[in-house]
Amino acid sequence: MPHRFPALIAAPAPGQGRLWLTGARLFDGTGGQVRDDAAVLVEDGVIRRVGRASEPCPEGARPLDVGQRTIMPGLVEAHTHIMSETPRTPRGAEPFLPGTPAHFLQAELREFLRMGVTTVRFTGAQAELPQEARQAMRYGAFRGPRLLTCGKIISVTAPGGRFYGTMYREADGPDDMRRAVREQIRAGADFIKVMTTGARSNELEDPDPLQLTAAELAAVADEAHRMGYRLCAHAEGNAGSEAAITSGADTIEHGIFLHQRPDLLDAMAGNGQVLVPTLSGYYWMAGLGEVIDPATAQRAPEMPPALVELADINLKNGTASMRAARDAGVKIALGSDKEVCAGLEIQRMIFHGLTPVQALVAATSTAAQALGLAGHVGTVEEGKLADLLIVDGDPLAAPGLLADPARIWLVLQLGVPVAGQALEREIPGPPGPGPDLSQQAAAVLPG
Ligand SMILES: [Zn+2]
Repeated sequence: MPHRFPALIAAPAPGQGRLWLTGARLFDGTGGQVRDDAAVLVEDGVIRRVGRASEPCPEGARPLDVGQRTIMPGLVEAHTHIMSETPRTPRGAEPFLPGTPAHFLQAELREFLRMGVTTVRFTGAQAELPQEARQAMRYGAFRGPRLLTCGKIISVTAPGGRFYGTMYREADGPDDMRRAVREQIRAGADFIKVMTTGARSNELEDPDPLQLTAAELAAVADEAHRMGYRLCAHAEGNAGSEAAITSGADTIEHGIFLHQRPDLLDAMAGNGQVLVPTLSGYYWMAGLGEVIDPATAQRAPEMPPALVELADINLKNGTASMRAARDAGVKIALGSDKEVCAGLEIQRMIFHGLTPVQALVAATSTAAQALGLAGHVGTVEEGKLADLLIVDGDPLAAPGLLADPARIWLVLQLGVPVAGQALEREIPGPPGPGPDLSQQAAAVLPG
């Protein structure tokens, strides 16, 4: 039996009544093309029916003509972190107070929602920042994405424990591993994350070997699954990937060299295990900035040269692994390993070989499956939660629009309009070019 997701329990209040989104094109997240003349009936925060724009507005529903824009599922970011980074202060400026990073996190969560990301899985964070932010959102302090957390990442005692603040729970021996899993469940985790190998973002760890013993990994996997929690495994080299796959991890994060092991990819496909390729993380570590095509970058690396060199190797192999996984029929979920850049990650996945449909499915329905939330989010279908994104244009023909705030027209969370261009009303002034969105926004604003 699956556990209760703290992320679902903490949902804010859903929209009340019926909303008829009409005059739409539709990308439903299941893998088909964008289709025309669609309409979606939302009732009390849930998608009640997908219909045709030619139908009359259903009884008692408030109509909203979306003007031939595309309705799609809210994006799902399956791999990112809370580093609680704050801007660098000038020398002599007052140091940050202990509570200040939480405000920066709130700003980041608002930004996720503004860019159409309605669900985020944090695969590592500082202290209890995700749980605290989630609690604040539950009671209406601000709006942000549905938020899943692993609590702390479970790792053996390793150099990484010194690099990432409070992100790790180091554990050694099967009993301590089991206890570490229980601690995360106690702290409100939605899933369990384990490090099977070192991390490529610190100079003291390597992609190989397998970092924990078979007995330790078995204890983590057994305790997580016994309690109904999904297991997310950080795995860089193939020793870690193999152990993660054979121990039944539900998602394999990075899996950089899996193209060298077709047998492992076949096993993943057969078991329904999901690969999260995290390309944007490699771009960042290689100092490639915001580009899609690495060849066009003006490099500005922030890491030591050895790690930058490693990032280039990882990008080359990680993209080959993603393509091989796709060819082997492995499910692929979007995970950028960076803050608010799902739109960029989608374009990078396409640049490195996925079709636009494959990349958008990775960012919606497959990412929802990776999280164990496929029954709730990730597609525009009857019975799913009305976490919807309405964009200007066709995201399959022009995926770049998903990284452009001006093209993110409206974001609905449980049927409530919560972000987007349509809600950002211009201060009245002399008439200018472009459509007047404010009247349409007024139609969906509460009260
Ligand atoms: Zn990560």
